[in-house]
Amino acid sequence: MAKNTLHCSFCGRSRDEVKILIAGQDGHICENCVEHAREIIDQELTVKEDKTKNSFKLSVKKPTEIKRFLDEYVIGQDEAKKVLSVAVYNHYKRLQQRSTELPNHHEIEIEKSNIIMVGETGTGKTLLAKSIARMLNVPFAIVDATVFTEAGYVGEDVESILSRLLQVCNYDVAAAERGIVYIDEIDKIARKSDNPSITRDVSGEGVQQGMLKLLEGTDVLVPPQGGRKHPEQKLIKVNTQNILFICGGAFDGIDRIIARRVHTNTIGFNVDKEEQDRRTRNLLSYVNATDLKSFGLIPELLGRLPVVTHLDPLDAATLRAILTTPRNALVKQYTRLFEMEGIALTIQDDVLDFMVAKALEYKLGARGLRSICESILTDAMYELPSTDTKEFILDLPYAEQHFNKSKLSLLKVA
Ligand code: ADP
Repeated sequence: MAKNTLHCSFCGRSRDEVKILIAGQDGHICENCVEHAREIIDQELTVKEDKTKNSFKLSVKKPTEIKRFLDEYVIGQDEAKKVLSVAVYNHYKRLQQRSTELPNHHEIEIEKSNIIMVGETGTGKTLLAKSIARMLNVPFAIVDATVFTEAGYVGEDVESILSRLLQVCNYDVAAAERGIVYIDEIDKIARKSDNPSITRDVSGEGVQQGMLKLLEGTDVLVPPQGGRKHPEQKLIKVNTQNILFICGGAFDGIDRIIARRVHTNTIGFNVDKEEQDRRTRNLLSYVNATDLKSFGLIPELLGRLPVVTHLDPLDAATLRAILTTPRNALVKQYTRLFEMEGIALTIQDDVLDFMVAKALEYKLGARGLRSICESILTDAMYELPSTDTKEFILDLPYAEQHFNKSKLSLLKVA
């Protein structure tokens, strides 16, 4: 064959039009096409790598690392932190197992362990869930169980729990299918009595029944925008087999149920407040599925929430630590706010004690600490930016005076 009749078998250019022509068995390739091929290979490989990364070659933190991370944001609650850390870690392991195993592989199947957290309001359940979400690289959604009602009644269908998850991952169904959902206020859908023969209970048992199919791991048809399913709405199919559900609730009064079970009496005439608190705290640590059933969760639902853990009530020392220690503690936040005005803020120790005392006295819990800080500091935050003050020392008389004239001081509970 004459030299100038050779051409690239990919782009067809002749020998004269290219710089290099590499010979293969039945054809040739020019330098341009080699370059092109290289780009295609690079692109393909990156996509594949991303996919494997997303399919759970995720950096999995060890349970102790997860807990250490939670420690930065949440004070105390060691047991709940441990349980959550293990559950999240195992969740990742399950996902890894599924992505690497062949379907016909007769490996031991790791079942997921959905969790239920029991703890008074304001003790850090949502905070734990949110802190976990900060760390995860799987989609995470927080929903409130109180908005759901049985199909056919006013409210949202339980399926919209998954709508939230779909929304956070931009409707990427595959991502949603390995996500984690935190369902808050699960106690609000408890049956009103432990008597199943009671007349139909719209807001409670119906919703629990509805939740069963979400938890058990089947295909669920989800309304993309949440709310109610409408016939004209295109529903999205989501498989819930790999979605981890974490539920939380205050379960007011469950201490009495636990007490009955463990034969301790919390209602005593001669037991002082501190002793009662101590007992209540200890009681919650005994909580188990039987107590939750007595409270009004149906056994089928409890069967799908096999891990039960508790959060301790917050005592003075914990509240004090919440004010100052977490990464974004209130004191740190206010100091920063003043610093941005060029003002050095010092909050004296007895003021912190005063805030804690008020939070306990007014039964405001940790959530109340912020309102207490606001009530004390609003005047300063209002006035000081217009002055040339460079330092503000918050002492007890100032704190008392401002707290006492605030609306908050009228909230005192008997
Ligand atoms: P709930 O248990 O009702 O879900 P949250 O987690 O919403 O309570 O807590 C309310 C607020 O109180 C949080 O945003 C946080 O500022 C504070 N808080 C409660 N518990 C803790 C805790 N253990 N450590 C640090 N902050 C806490």
